Amino acid sequence: MKVAFTSDNIAGASDSVLQAMMDASQGDAIPYGNDELTAEVTGMLSAFFECDVNVFLVSTGTAANVLSISAMTPPWGSVLCHTESHLLNDESTAPEFYSGGARFVGVGGADAKIDPVQLKKFVSQKVGDVHSCQPSAVSLSQVSEVGSVYSLEEIKAITDVAKEAHLPVHMDGARFANALVALGCTPAEMTWKAGIDIVSFGATKNGTMSAEAIVVFKPELAKELAFRRKRGGHLHSKMRVLSAQMRAYLTDNLWRQNAEYANGMMALLQEGLKTIPSIKINTPAQANMLFCTLPEGMEEYLLGEGFAFYGGRWEKGVVRLVTSFRTPKEGVEAFINAARRFDDQG
Ligand SMILES: *Cc1c(COP(=O)(O)O)cnc(C)c1O
Repeated sequence: MKVAFTSDNIAGASDSVLQAMMDASQGDAIPYGNDELTAEVTGMLSAFFECDVNVFLVSTGTAANVLSISAMTPPWGSVLCHTESHLLNDESTAPEFYSGGARFVGVGGADAKIDPVQLKKFVSQKVGDVHSCQPSAVSLSQVSEVGSVYSLEEIKAITDVAKEAHLPVHMDGARFANALVALGCTPAEMTWKAGIDIVSFGATKNGTMSAEAIVVFKPELAKELAFRRKRGGHLHSKMRVLSAQMRAYLTDNLWRQNAEYANGMMALLQEGLKTIPSIKINTPAQANMLFCTLPEGMEEYLLGEGFAFYGGRWEKGVVRLVTSFRTPKEGVEAFINAARRFDDQG
């Protein structure tokens, strides 16, 4: 059986999302987000986050991130994010492009989580020095790039440092629902109650086709975003088709069901891999992503057996495994069995 653990965006969209797109495509609607469905989604997200939010739907996570951040930093600013962040490593030069050339600075920390002590040094570096970039914003990823999840206290520790330096904080929530389910807290607790000012509320990896929401908790940060989104070419004329996806995602707890399923498959996978002596778990998976180190030859063996996953990009033997809302349970079991077979032979 062929199963891929390459990423959660290899899965398509949930049926109800596609149905919602079909339904929304019937008849006419006012373009550019001035339709009823889009207003409804803003209301739904306000209810979801238990506060009045401004919402800007876009069709990629990169756009959500870089547009959010462009509203937080002047072109001479620096944006502090983790060294391993998606912003720094996986968004080409979109961050610089959209922010008009601001500098993105990597901050260290274990398990791809920003270390607040290191952050403290960066936020006050050369403030007021016209020759240096000016610390302007902080961005953290929840789930992180290695599959760890910030606890509420850890988020608070970051935002405390940022607030003390009067810097706004962005959360890259490409896997927001997976993190939320892992923590078992409310969306409000994981965001504005913990000091987050804007979140890229990801949905595409967890069941929509192409809908991500920039959710703004601070009204003053929302003022420019409508113009920035249009200028950046991300104001969809048929916005209602994006809104329909988001409405379906927020309806009947689809986001929760999908995230619980994906996290559950990862828990199963991790439990299985833990019983194989030659495999080392690098960062314990709290959500739906796992980094582990395989013994010599196992990677090639598993690839040869038809499994797909990323490897060869990090230290020798390190591979990344991601489960989605649609990863088949039999596939997880087959993977564990194949790994065990190799381990037994070795
Ligand atoms: C997938 C992902 C994104 C968004 O990527 P797109 O391909 O632009 O949709 C952003 N941040 C993180 C951490 C991601 O994993």
